[in-house]
Amino acid sequence: MLYLLSSWKTYGSLILALAISFMAVSTPATTAASFQRIPMEQAIRESKEAHALEQQMKARQLEKQRGLQEALGIAGALPSQYQYDVKYYKMDMRVNVPAETIYARIDMISTATQDNVTFCDIDLFSNMAIDSVRVDDGPATFTRDGNVYRVNLPAPVNTGQPFTVRTWYRGHPTEGGFQAFAFEIVQGQTLVSTLSEPYLARTWWPCKDYPDDKADSVDVVVNYPVNMFCASNGTMVGNVNNGDGTRTTSWKIRYPIATYLVSLAMSNYSHWRDWMKYAPTDSMPVDYWVFPGDSSDARSGYSPTVAMLDTLSRLFGLYPFINEKYAMSAFNWGGAMEHQTNTSIIRNYYAQSMIVHEMGHQWWGDMITCRDWHHVWMNEGFASYVEALWFESLGTFTDLRNYMNGMRYTLGGSIYCIDTTNVWAIFDSRVYDKGAWALHMLRHVVSDPTFFSIMQTFYDDPRYKWKDVTTEQFRDLCEQVSGMDLHGFFQDWIYGTYYPKYNYSFLSEPRGGNNYRVYVHVRQTQTTSPQTFRMPIIDLSVNAGSYVDFHVPMMDSEKDYVFDLTNALTPPNGVAVDRNDWILKTATSESYAVHVIYDTLMTGQQFISYQDSVIVRGGSKPYTYSVTSGSLPAELTLNSTTGIVSGTPTDSGSVTFTVSATGTSGGSDSKQITMRITPKTYVPGDASHDGAVNISDAVYLIAYIFSGGPVPVPMTAGDVNGSCAVNISDAVYLISYIFSGGPAPLPGC
Ligand SMILES: [Zn+2]
Repeated sequence: MLYLLSSWKTYGSLILALAISFMAVSTPATTAASFQRIPMEQAIRESKEAHALEQQMKARQLEKQRGLQEALGIAGALPSQYQYDVKYYKMDMRVNVPAETIYARIDMISTATQDNVTFCDIDLFSNMAIDSVRVDDGPATFTRDGNVYRVNLPAPVNTGQPFTVRTWYRGHPTEGGFQAFAFEIVQGQTLVSTLSEPYLARTWWPCKDYPDDKADSVDVVVNYPVNMFCASNGTMVGNVNNGDGTRTTSWKIRYPIATYLVSLAMSNYSHWRDWMKYAPTDSMPVDYWVFPGDSSDARSGYSPTVAMLDTLSRLFGLYPFINEKYAMSAFNWGGAMEHQTNTSIIRNYYAQSMIVHEMGHQWWGDMITCRDWHHVWMNEGFASYVEALWFESLGTFTDLRNYMNGMRYTLGGSIYCIDTTNVWAIFDSRVYDKGAWALHMLRHVVSDPTFFSIMQTFYDDPRYKWKDVTTEQFRDLCEQVSGMDLHGFFQDWIYGTYYPKYNYSFLSEPRGGNNYRVYVHVRQTQTTSPQTFRMPIIDLSVNAGSYVDFHVPMMDSEKDYVFDLTNALTPPNGVAVDRNDWILKTATSESYAVHVIYDTLMTGQQFISYQDSVIVRGGSKPYTYSVTSGSLPAELTLNSTTGIVSGTPTDSGSVTFTVSATGTSGGSDSKQITMRITPKTYVPGDASHDGAVNISDAVYLIAYIFSGGPVPVPMTAGDVNGSCAVNISDAVYLISYIFSGGPAPLPGC
């Protein structure tokens, strides 16, 4: 949901981003009039106003919040509510503005998801009086328990079978959460508006109030004072002056919609309409309902709206509710709320970040909705990243980078929302800002084209489109589109806390001419969880007159990298970790210590003479080498002064051991090394292991058998007749083969 003005923190960066983006502005294709650069003084003033509004609002809302929490006390649907799947709601509501009451009928059409369903539990706050309930147009009884009422179905309903519950109810809706249902006088003018996210639709209309059960369609019919106008979701299909001082306005919603996105906003609005021309012969209405006194400022403030719709359609896929509309309706809450096709937005406040954030939700939040509030970053992190993408689209990468740096989140807590019983915990800037960072980092990890391909696939895939989703579904889609393993990345960033603190150091060696070998050591020093962030891609850059970038994985708590620079402009004089700020991190340089560079040694071959070296850099030479745990492959040794591993391995397979190196003047490092010896293939009868079968093998065998000569290599190669023993009959067999056309040597046993 929502764009809380609280998530407007880093005004400096924002203003910088705005200023830069407008210097480099290239106006995107748009069917609306071009919009104007925001003057710096205005941006500064807006930020101060936002803070002041925020203070007032929070104080007021926290007051309301008390008591409501106890009344609600739930974080998920009752198990019994999964006995049915809601298909359709019709809301027929009379709003008595002077009395601040509503009187309404809700028709809810559902199908049973199991056999023998005998009752239906529906959410509605207990202070709303239920007049009567009917099922399938026949009488029905109900009972109430807290904020749920149970309708007894006259006859059991089986899987797939539809049933209609019709409820007549009335009352003054409880306010709570961010707002719920509000009657207000603003600027001397009556305003009625709703804001139900995350779980307060039930304060004013009976429904199954969870985002994992969207209705396929909804009709909203509202009766209210004739001098007002009621904006809602979808398409307006009726607007009648009843001649009795009331007006009836009807809206039809023909896209799936979650209950928290159903909204009413009514006042004595001024209205105007733009068009989004999305095809040569097709346009979609873009409506604005604002306070009359705000009309002139609003026309200017909202002027980027159509350009934003064009931009987001280009990035993600065509605006999802293209057969209905996009609209913004003024309300008095301290922020904005992405009601489907009809964003509610604080009156007379026109920050582009806010406008584009709510619009972004139409894709991410409304069309595709978090399954439950634990995964709210799928709404808010995405919409917050949309802000950054908008400013990037107006300018350059620098604007994106500045905007993201303005959204750095460095406090604790996980992006995954653990406590979903409190609106302030759900809609914390952690979810917004760090959630946006998760997408920003993902973008770099998978590369730009793949990232936008992921977003477009997410938009298009029938598994997700119009549905509710979890982090894990999105992760799996990212893996599917990118072909990368992203389990560690998602686990660390979505469920972990804080961010990596990288310490880095480097050592450069001349390699002749303008060529250098550069050793870079990076370690993670955070003591928070996770202690090791797994980044499939991180940029390490060597400054050699200009930066040379290397894209490498950093999946471990520390790692050594070796880069070869050719034709360097200058000797390497520095390195940078993630110099373009694609990662939420800190990076600190330190001096290069003793480091064992590689965690592998060359693969050896069984029975073949082997030599390789453990490579150590940093500190002072010579080093002293030792194996501190595990052991080398059989018959190989480590020279303690040269680091050379040599010998002729007699066994095949993989072994892991730890090598430690200590510098002359102190400092040491150890590294676990994995080494593989591949099995030697042999030629039957080639006892001497020279690659050919001839008389020398017979001589070799005879020497072994009678004179204590060397053993056949391998022993099996000497078992020429396959008798499972090496003896004189093998030599005889071999001589017969070589000289008399006898049978060929057998593989032995
Ligand atoms: Zn939002």
